[in-house]
Amino acid sequence: MNPFISKTKIVATLGPASFSASVQRRLMAAGVDGFRLNLSHGDLEEHAGVIASLRKISGEMGRPVAIVVDLPGPKMRLGKVLKPITVRRGAKVRFVPEGVARPGPGIFLPHEISGLAQGLRPGSIIFVGDGMMQFKVKSIQGEIVETEALVAGVVRSNKGVNIPGYNAPSGVLTEEDKRGITFAIKHKADVICISFVGSPEDMLAARALLPKTGNYHPCLLAKIERRQAVAHLDAILAVADAVMVARGDLGIELPIEEIPGLQKDIIHRANLAAKPVIVATQMMLSMVDNARPTRAEVTDVANAILDGADAIMFSEETAIGHDPAAVVRIAKKIARQTEKRLVKSGAIALEVRAAIRSEDSIDDLVSSAACDVLENRTVDLAVTPTATGTTARRIARLRPRPWIVAITDNPTARNILALSSGVFPLVVPSVALSDFELAKRIKDAGLLRPGTRRLVITAGTLLGVAGTTNSLKIIDVF
Ligand code: PEP
Repeated sequence: MNPFISKTKIVATLGPASFSASVQRRLMAAGVDGFRLNLSHGDLEEHAGVIASLRKISGEMGRPVAIVVDLPGPKMRLGKVLKPITVRRGAKVRFVPEGVARPGPGIFLPHEISGLAQGLRPGSIIFVGDGMMQFKVKSIQGEIVETEALVAGVVRSNKGVNIPGYNAPSGVLTEEDKRGITFAIKHKADVICISFVGSPEDMLAARALLPKTGNYHPCLLAKIERRQAVAHLDAILAVADAVMVARGDLGIELPIEEIPGLQKDIIHRANLAAKPVIVATQMMLSMVDNARPTRAEVTDVANAILDGADAIMFSEETAIGHDPAAVVRIAKKIARQTEKRLVKSGAIALEVRAAIRSEDSIDDLVSSAACDVLENRTVDLAVTPTATGTTARRIARLRPRPWIVAITDNPTARNILALSSGVFPLVVPSVALSDFELAKRIKDAGLLRPGTRRLVITAGTLLGVAGTTNSLKIIDVF
């Protein structure tokens, strides 16, 4: 399979529309780089089955994919509704705790939010499903909250609930999250997403639950979706392996008109920290029902890439949409086209290099020098033997034209690099290899494209030792 479809990584959330092996196969053929299992939906046994199916298909198709486990966090959610409920504008809708008897006919939305009725007042607004549905509280009778629908729409099971000013306290891991981490470790997930992070301590609390020894260490990703996370972004970036601009909750927790600016800031600061950044939510939402995205959605995907996103994530589009593989195929096409523009303009490289100039470390100097050489059209590939993935990420954040093959003996580095734009991580037993052996490994893995003439290889005085990269080699391939 062609591993070089687009440098921008595509993460597809799995759901009823994509649980079947045939759809997963089509998604991999379309070029999905990571599959997200949203633990807010389904049970762990089902998710375990999905992981087994993905690994089997990935092995059969020779297409490595990252398994991304997304923890629910302290998010408020609706309970289960038997089938989607269509709500008219102005309809009377009552929120009832799951298990409480429903008094008479009408529309009832079950929820599992303890103390919801006590925390609301007439006039409060309840947002459901990333704010697509809005309900105004009219009255509260015991545990039953009576509302009026402010917009028409369809409500489905387990949709997220946001009530501005009412959110759960900062994202200390819930018991459900802890079970989710144990599950992710048991199934060797490549990426674990921590929801509603508010501070670096939240990430450190999650990291404390990860294995300290052995060679399995997942990429720990912080979802940036609340005001506190934005305020502590640099400190969170320092302890996270990757971040996500989780626009769904962010667009409710903060004024929606701030999202475009926040997205640019979060991406830029993640680029500076050389940490991969995913942009998520409503990227091509209309494709849940339609065969093609809107012009605005195509532009949104392209703009995220031009902002410096490493990866784009789809949620409903691939979880409940009518053609998940078409979503990925179109996203890959948009990404390829946009990446050409990005390389030509060199805008991100200029911005990042200007910002890091004052603190040039040897790593920064080597990665900048590698990018200077990579601009030459005779060079077709960058090769970075790496213990931690740092050098590869520092080169990748400058968005050079050629791909980067990151050769590593550290599965953790592989997991983090799985989300980095333009990086193909290749795990080998040892990175202490001669140039000839490196080139052979790349060729054997099918990563040396026909016509490849020249490689740039980063190297260190101590082969395979983290933090010692200090030189560049340019070699011709025969
Ligand atoms: C988001 O809020 O944008 C997001 C990706 O998180 P979730 O889908 O868990 O709400």
